[in-house]
Amino acid sequence: MVMEINNKHEGDLIRLKCWVQNYDWGIIGNESLVARTFSSNCDCEIEESKHYAELWMGTHDSGPSYVVGEKGIGNVSLKSWVSENPEVLGDLVVGKWGVDLPFMFKVLSVARALSIQAHPDKELAGFLHTLKPNVYKDANHKPEMVVALTEFEALCGFISFKELEAVLESVPEIMEVVGNAYPDQVLPVNVQNEEKQTQFLQSIFIKLMSAESKVVSAAVTKLISRLNMENKTRQLTSKEELALKLENEHPHDIGVIASFFFNHVRLNPGEALYISPNEPHAYLGGESVECMATSDNVVRAGLTPKHRDVKILCSMLTYKQGSPEILKGVPVNEYTKRYNPPFEEFEVEQCVLDQGASVIFPAVPGPSIFLVLSGQGFMYTTSSAAAAPLSSPSSSSSSSPMLSPSSSISPMSSPSSSSSSLTEGMVRGGDVLFAPANTEVHVSTDSDLRLFKAGVNHLMFTKT
Ligand SMILES: [Zn+2]
Repeated sequence: MVMEINNKHEGDLIRLKCWVQNYDWGIIGNESLVARTFSSNCDCEIEESKHYAELWMGTHDSGPSYVVGEKGIGNVSLKSWVSENPEVLGDLVVGKWGVDLPFMFKVLSVARALSIQAHPDKELAGFLHTLKPNVYKDANHKPEMVVALTEFEALCGFISFKELEAVLESVPEIMEVVGNAYPDQVLPVNVQNEEKQTQFLQSIFIKLMSAESKVVSAAVTKLISRLNMENKTRQLTSKEELALKLENEHPHDIGVIASFFFNHVRLNPGEALYISPNEPHAYLGGESVECMATSDNVVRAGLTPKHRDVKILCSMLTYKQGSPEILKGVPVNEYTKRYNPPFEEFEVEQCVLDQGASVIFPAVPGPSIFLVLSGQGFMYTTSSAAAAPLSSPSSSSSSSPMLSPSSSISPMSSPSSSSSSLTEGMVRGGDVLFAPANTEVHVSTDSDLRLFKAGVNHLMFTKT
């Protein structure tokens, strides 16, 4: 099917050229998965001295994806293409979120800690956007989820009250920062009531985060020299080791001390962590894919040279305590696992095919983005009404039934014609494809292929 603006696009797969963000916490040069994926995606060279932090796939204005048309990459962004072809989103999505992709998809390569941050809920996001449109560019909330590709470390949510009590005893520097302001506050050993525990956490955290910089700096210096001394006579805890690492990356920063308040999460490859609105978190290291509602609103309070909004951050947090939920992925078929967070806008599937394997992603009433992470294979689509069963994949023969053009089967569009050749359905690492609503996607490989699919949460479509 030739891609033309204002035609019906059900059944097309649209190639995208994606945007890279070179934030200074990104992994440098060829070591960075973001760099390698971006380089394959846009067919460009990796700059060996540059940080490659995030690859963005979606419609956000701060890093738009572009549609690859018949004449290569034009100046048509996915956002403007979608707005001219709203049927590719499906009625349900347009009805609920308007004419835009409700989610954004990313690859992350994290060399050092990102800021301690939280993302506002919808109500607060709207308020902040009105108040400071230059800082808070979106009126939308930004729940997010990372799926680890390597071991991936993060701080996420507050530790339990029991753990907090232990921390206040073992890290006396905390009370040195907050204690003066609370001379009557002693360790709340008698606090059994959950509400009171939350109040205590909130008061001590706010005091810590709003302490004067010279007080913070003195406490961090004291903490670090104590840990360096004790390191000679005992094994430091992983939290203490983290404090040393964070101080090295962000000297004298309040985040070094604040890190003791948060859960230290280590994801194994294939595990996922989701972040609800108003929950504090900081990604520390590793590589992952990430999906989120389309928004870039971040309220920061530590481990960053960027703008901090300590008051807003402290007042927006839920102060929920305890370990976060880790998703392992639920198998949907032999090759595919689904990561389903409690958010309507998105979910992620990971598919790993080995030699000769094939799989079908059934048509859904919403849009999807496919990222081919590595390997190579073939993709083609059928519109939902005319879905044909998949023949067993054969080797690269042009008479393969899988790739024979017919009225109900369309190999990848753009460029495409009625005499589609094999290469038109070929995909490899770095390819990013937009699949319109109601499109069934067939994938196969002769070698191996690893891909991710981001789409609207399927539970949205089963609600009646
Ligand atoms: Zn975040």
